[in-house]
Amino acid sequence: MSDFVLPPPAVPYLSVQGGGRFPVRRIYCVGRNYAEHAIEMGSDPTREPPFYFAKPADAVVIDGADMPYPAATKSLHHEMELVVAIGTGGTNIAQADALKHVWGWCCGLDMTRRDLQNEAKKTGRPWDMGKGFDHSAPMGLLVRAGGSFDGSKGKIELKVNGKVTQTSDLSKLIWSVPEVIANLSGLVRLEPGDLIMTGTPEGVAAVVKGDLLEGMVEGVGEVRTRIV
Ligand code: MN
Repeated sequence: MSDFVLPPPAVPYLSVQGGGRFPVRRIYCVGRNYAEHAIEMGSDPTREPPFYFAKPADAVVIDGADMPYPAATKSLHHEMELVVAIGTGGTNIAQADALKHVWGWCCGLDMTRRDLQNEAKKTGRPWDMGKGFDHSAPMGLLVRAGGSFDGSKGKIELKVNGKVTQTSDLSKLIWSVPEVIANLSGLVRLEPGDLIMTGTPEGVAAVVKGDLLEGMVEGVGEVRTRIV
């Protein structure tokens, strides 16, 4: 019999292609990982060490479900990203071993209250309320690692209402997936169930209620959500 004084919350999860559920432990996100996006955000695109922010695990929106337009913003932006799902934990993981820690891959959207994020940047405050809000991480089906896809190349694209707004290639990641896993595992112990959102290419823009977002990564699959 449980001695929890409240019912423990449900475990957030991703649906796995072919069946099963992947339990989500934490969601880490890489900032400014494509040069053209750094430039459009008014930042220096040179190769500074990667930096991270996080979203709550229960920010995931799965299986094509709708995303409610969030409170407190007039500028909800899409950021289409490749997501890495960690299956084996570790600290100070070597780059050469990094992909052995990957359970799978999926397509995700790092939805951003850009006005709150910009205000936080201006005042030197945390990004949490710009990035880590409810329903801020729509995700597609998780695809098991082990095929030919290794995150090093492949088209990444987002369409809003059928029109392409973001298009790039994973080869343009400033910090590759093995480099991110190696670096992040030097800051925190990565654990099974952790997700890493690897950053977005250029073309981020505001969306409104009714918009349909359809993203894809070549070799992984798709993510789809409607803003309601
Ligand atoms: Mn992002």
